[in-house]
Amino acid sequence: MQSQAARRQPLAPHEEKFTTWHNPTDHEQKIDVFYGAGVGNEERPTRYIVPSKGDLEIPSRWDSAIHRVQCADDTCRRIGSGFCTRDHAGTVIGGIAPQLQKKGQRAQLLPALDPTAAEKLQKAAEVAAASIARRDAENTMLLAESRRRELEDEEKARDAAKADAKPAKK
Ligand SMILES: [Zn+2]
Repeated sequence: MQSQAARRQPLAPHEEKFTTWHNPTDHEQKIDVFYGAGVGNEERPTRYIVPSKGDLEIPSRWDSAIHRVQCADDTCRRIGSGFCTRDHAGTVIGGIAPQLQKKGQRAQLLPALDPTAAEKLQKAAEVAAASIARRDAENTMLLAESRRRELEDEEKARDAAKADAKPAKK
């Protein structure tokens, strides 16, 4: 914990921490944030632009604005809000730019916010269908094999019955 005196110390520019964000989408991503009132600046946001397929460092103070993360960690859930600012595993459920990828982040993007989700689902469905088809084919072969064994057993049983029947006629 910082002491009160330390908290009153102004932040030096070199103390600013940054987070690297990657933009996996095909379009640039604008992040508009308000640093607060300044003469003439009250209504002008500061704009960060993350290029398509590129990276940009943005002050970490905006992490929880860029990604709103619903935390899966019990220690965070217990404190109530359900939204994490501590980089636990969880789900990105919103924010200014949920599609950006935060370097080192463990949270997964909510599928409803993922523009590639339909594509991923399609692929998963194709894989599942192929797996079902393969299993069906295997089952068909297993059934055929087990039917063949049954027929063999029936045949053996018939032969055995014949063999038993013969001595009885004597
Ligand atoms: Zn958390």
